[in-house]
Amino acid sequence: MNFNHYFTNDELFKLLDEWVATYPDLIQKVSIGNSHEGRSIWLLTLTNRATGTDLDKPAVWIDANIHATEITGTTSALYIAYHLLNGYGNDEKITRQLDQSVYYIVPRVNPDGAEWAMAATPRYVRSGVRPYPWEEKEEGLLSQDINGDGKILQMRFQDPNGDWKVSSLDPRMMEKRTLDEMNGTYYRLLSEGLLEDYDGYLVKIARPLEGLDFNRNFPFQWRTEGEQQGAGPYPTSETEVRALVNFIIEHPNINIAITFHTFSRVILRPYSTKSDDDMNTDDLWVFKKIGELGTKITGYRCVSTFHDFKYHPKEVTTGAFDDWMYDHMGIFTYTIELWDLPTEAGIKDRKWIEWWRDHPHDEDFQILKWADEHAAPDAYMEWKPYNHPQLGKVELGGWNNMYTWRNPPLDFVESEVKKHYPFMLSLGEMLPHLAIHTLEINKISHNKFHLNLVVENSGFLPSYTSQQSKTRQASRPVRVELDVPEGAKLTSGKHREELGHLEGRSNKLDVAANYGESPTDNRARLEWVIEASPGTKIGIKVLSERAGRINREVILQ
Ligand SMILES: [Zn+2]
Repeated sequence: MNFNHYFTNDELFKLLDEWVATYPDLIQKVSIGNSHEGRSIWLLTLTNRATGTDLDKPAVWIDANIHATEITGTTSALYIAYHLLNGYGNDEKITRQLDQSVYYIVPRVNPDGAEWAMAATPRYVRSGVRPYPWEEKEEGLLSQDINGDGKILQMRFQDPNGDWKVSSLDPRMMEKRTLDEMNGTYYRLLSEGLLEDYDGYLVKIARPLEGLDFNRNFPFQWRTEGEQQGAGPYPTSETEVRALVNFIIEHPNINIAITFHTFSRVILRPYSTKSDDDMNTDDLWVFKKIGELGTKITGYRCVSTFHDFKYHPKEVTTGAFDDWMYDHMGIFTYTIELWDLPTEAGIKDRKWIEWWRDHPHDEDFQILKWADEHAAPDAYMEWKPYNHPQLGKVELGGWNNMYTWRNPPLDFVESEVKKHYPFMLSLGEMLPHLAIHTLEINKISHNKFHLNLVVENSGFLPSYTSQQSKTRQASRPVRVELDVPEGAKLTSGKHREELGHLEGRSNKLDVAANYGESPTDNRARLEWVIEASPGTKIGIKVLSERAGRINREVILQ
């Protein structure tokens, strides 16, 4: 399969049908809802159904493309699904994982936004295509493809008060006019587009008509439009967001989640809204350790959104998926921002958000040079005169942002997404897993039996996933149910026993070798005495939403 590719909705839907037909035992697809324009939001369940249903197994969640133009995420999610399907039966790790756990994958949360972004005459929206907050266009510039070349580039026109000039390094580029510079040829730069209600004098930038941001519409600290733009009229008001939230609420087996976005080459972790100091410390350590592994595998740094990825130093974003997943559900959730053009062009350790505000102009030149050598010829378009219906003589040109900045040039898609597949497999290895350590039956007398059961969690994460999930009571303790047929009787022990929670290895991260203490807090033990005739069958169920379920039958003899 070629993963140097961006999948249209038609291609995506067809591919998923093919996979379901080819691997019916390993993959199921279900539509978890319809988009605003009525497209299916497909969710893939990857697990070996012969070893149990998905809800009986712990799960990793992967989604992508909640933001309309961030279509690299879809390719990344499909890359992962494809390699899981093909690895089953050939690769020990994948086979074991699909036998005993589940990957839920939503390759495209926002099919409408992707449809618009990939259309022959594209339209770029942040998320949803529904007008919001108002039905009418605001006065000012609305970006769109005005010359029908399938690209939304930039417009420039001369103005003595412009803040740009032609670059001294490369005449195709624009360079910022310095603070004390006068008497040169200066330009204004605008996005390619048309002006709503233009009076012939004042150029305003309109708020986009489709102003929703699905990643502000989740129920965590949701705020109104006045405080958080794009958040929608109420939490989960948007059908795409509601589809995710409903599914996740109904699938308490999810422990770890990844949401793919573009761009910056960074792994973001909660919170967006508060400092690490205000988080649960044990969870923070686990978040950081998993993040370190992610950095080792992918080369992407892992940082807190609040500390290192705020759009404005004094403002936070609310209603994000990762914060909701962790804060309400206690699920370890990361936002992976795929691809970064400046980094690819050799600019080291750039400060993601600050860089936009201020960076040396030779870095712009370095990036353009990289694009000349590596990207498609239309990555950067030379300025060409255009007779704008409202502004008159302008020039169109500049970056084709969609396939340079927002998403990698085609030849670089696969190399970017493939880094994340081994990280996903590592996450799959961390899930909690119930197992029976010991199950003994001892005959006390001819119709009296002693049952000794030791249950363990063989995973890295505990049966409650995170401390936050305990705080929120988002995960139930492990229970054991004994199914004793009529005629048999429990003389000691109960039919339903609560085992409590089982630790994994994540609570032992801070233990040094010289003071090492590794108690068996991942185990719990129960005993029963049963009066029954020999040969009686007893059913044993061990239940945990997060760590899976076990069904066993024993014969008393
Ligand atoms: Zn995004």
